[in-house]
Amino acid sequence: MAERPYIVGNWKMHGTRAMLSEARAIDRAAERLMKVEVAIAPPFTLIHATRKEAALIGVGAQDCHAAEGGAHTGDISAAMLKDAGAGFVIIGHSERRADHDEKDSDVRAKAEAALAVGLSVIVCVGETEAERDAGKAVRVVAKQLDGSLPQADSAAEKVTVAYEPVWAIGTGRTPTLDDIEAMHRAIRERLHEIYGDAAESVRILYGGSVKPDNAAEILNIAEVGGALVGGASLTAESFVGIMTAAA
Ligand code: PEP
Repeated sequence: MAERPYIVGNWKMHGTRAMLSEARAIDRAAERLMKVEVAIAPPFTLIHATRKEAALIGVGAQDCHAAEGGAHTGDISAAMLKDAGAGFVIIGHSERRADHDEKDSDVRAKAEAALAVGLSVIVCVGETEAERDAGKAVRVVAKQLDGSLPQADSAAEKVTVAYEPVWAIGTGRTPTLDDIEAMHRAIRERLHEIYGDAAESVRILYGGSVKPDNAAEILNIAEVGGALVGGASLTAESFVGIMTAAA
């Protein structure tokens, strides 16, 4: 288990103000689980309120635009996220890569924009099922890392990588523990090629159908520094179950 596992909830396009009670309950649990670093990424509309209601946990966003501002109707800049109270932003989630045709170069531009205003970033990578079946998973993820991560060595301390096999997201299926370990080791090696010694400070999270009952075994794998959690982060009951497994 990592020294201080990082457990991040991605609420995706779920949540109105009624859901702030879940954030408050997660925050209260974080107070007694100080060995775990906890954060949630609610939709844009709840960032400010979540920051106000939940004092202990990290609060972040699920995307940002790469530009500082301008004629981009419906988009949100990194500076706006910071102003709303976000401390980090998830970039390159597979749902954004698929739904919005985001390429590695877009992901990198967004990550660099976020770092430029002082946000931390969680950069998501992961193979599809067809790519895994074809034996290409490590190659695909390495290419995503090469193309998506901000390049300056100084970026490493603000970057977290989330390994999320696309076929495991929201499906109830997970890779074997050996496959997770092998991929996390491969990611660490690639990070060394990209960032040199600074790579050691980059946390690597696993994401994809993490639940209270499988969290402990996944978080015990070498090189797994925490979890990015979708569905099971939507209620305090299940998310606190994962936080407890991490403690
Ligand atoms: C995610 O979307 O980042 C995710 C990991 O989802 P789930 O936990 O629901 O598989």
